[in-house]
Amino acid sequence: MQTVRFITFGCKANQYDTQLLRETLLRRGWNEAREAELVVVNTCTVTAEAGRKARQVIRRIGRETPTARICVTGCLAESEPELLRELPNVEWVLGNGEAKRPVHFLRQLGEEVDPEELGIPSGITEFAGHTRAFLKIQDGCDKACAFCIIPSVRGPSRSRPADELAAEVRGLLAGGFREIVLCGIHIGHWGRDLGQSLGHLLECLSEVEHPSAEDWRLRLSSIEATEVDDGVLGVLAGRPDRIAPHLHMPLQSGDDAVLAAMNRWYTSAQYLAACERIRSRLDRPAFTADVLVGFDGEEEPSFENTLRTAREAGFARIHVFPFSPRPGTAAERPLRLPDPGLVRERRARLSELAGELATAYRRGLDGARDRIVVEAGGVGLSGRYQRVRIDPTDFGSTGPAPIEEVELGAVDTAEGEVELRGRPLAVSTP
Ligand code: SF4
Repeated sequence: MQTVRFITFGCKANQYDTQLLRETLLRRGWNEAREAELVVVNTCTVTAEAGRKARQVIRRIGRETPTARICVTGCLAESEPELLRELPNVEWVLGNGEAKRPVHFLRQLGEEVDPEELGIPSGITEFAGHTRAFLKIQDGCDKACAFCIIPSVRGPSRSRPADELAAEVRGLLAGGFREIVLCGIHIGHWGRDLGQSLGHLLECLSEVEHPSAEDWRLRLSSIEATEVDDGVLGVLAGRPDRIAPHLHMPLQSGDDAVLAAMNRWYTSAQYLAACERIRSRLDRPAFTADVLVGFDGEEEPSFENTLRTAREAGFARIHVFPFSPRPGTAAERPLRLPDPGLVRERRARLSELAGELATAYRRGLDGARDRIVVEAGGVGLSGRYQRVRIDPTDFGSTGPAPIEEVELGAVDTAEGEVELRGRPLAVSTP
């Protein structure tokens, strides 16, 4: 076999895993093609819907490219290997962890491999099709949230060593990436198995230098509010040039009884206290969150507590998910599930609030400084995870550098939205 196609579902950690497998094969002379001999499907099982979509795609490949041999990997391959093996053209079902490591992967495909071989990547150097690179710093989770299947398909938290990650950051900077997103399944637990802490890792990584990358930054992908400790916050506050002031902190619910039923380990007051602590050290940080609506036992007053908590947190963005019981989790048989119409209504109400809060947050950024990673088409992504419109001619005759520091202006648009515009603080010199 010489041609391969990759299809990825799910989270940033999965996208990282796919990239590692892609580099593993490309370095051995394989080529990517749409009509490929081998199709690697890296799956997700976080919701029943994610699993259904993956199975649908696998069946479609079997129909459309009957000669393709399919390798299914990822979380669905852990949770339902037998079902996947029965699908047409599926030849390998590899799961997560070791099963997905390059050496094992190559051997499964029938390639001869010497683990010491220089061509086998231990990390990634590219991130196909993206302007920002995702770097997986750990895998697995030691918690047991009632709605979540991830710990059973990814296992306990395992951290990658800081020096290996620093080398990978260097390689990505050499490859031209100027934003590196630290991702994993539970990144706040990075280092627990190594006797180290996430704050320590952030310090190490923010010191990384590369001659071709004067300016670059890190972003944390998703971190629990209770795990933004003094070490993490100290680096965020001390290196605003290196770490984006954006924290995606899953809330899940703003009601203490629902949080307890979800087996989450904090109260809404503790969550809000974490927001306040962070806000006192950073200039207008962006808080974004995941919220699950319609969890078992969520009554109208509990949902209103969620609305109140979201309002007080002042989220810049909320990802609203309707709860659906997931087989294999503690919450698979809910006692008092709200009816689907009610869940839809709550989802709509929270989404409406999310829109209002996002607009208010953008308006509040008027006059703030931010650093944008410049993208095509006169826009950039700010450290606070906002799209910012720029006029490239404002940045001198050579146009903007890959990262530019700007002053933000919040402008009301005719559609009733608030748009952020970025003006340079100083015109770049060629
Ligand atoms: S912290 Fe909870 S929701 Fe997040 S991966 Fe672990 S068990 Fe799942």
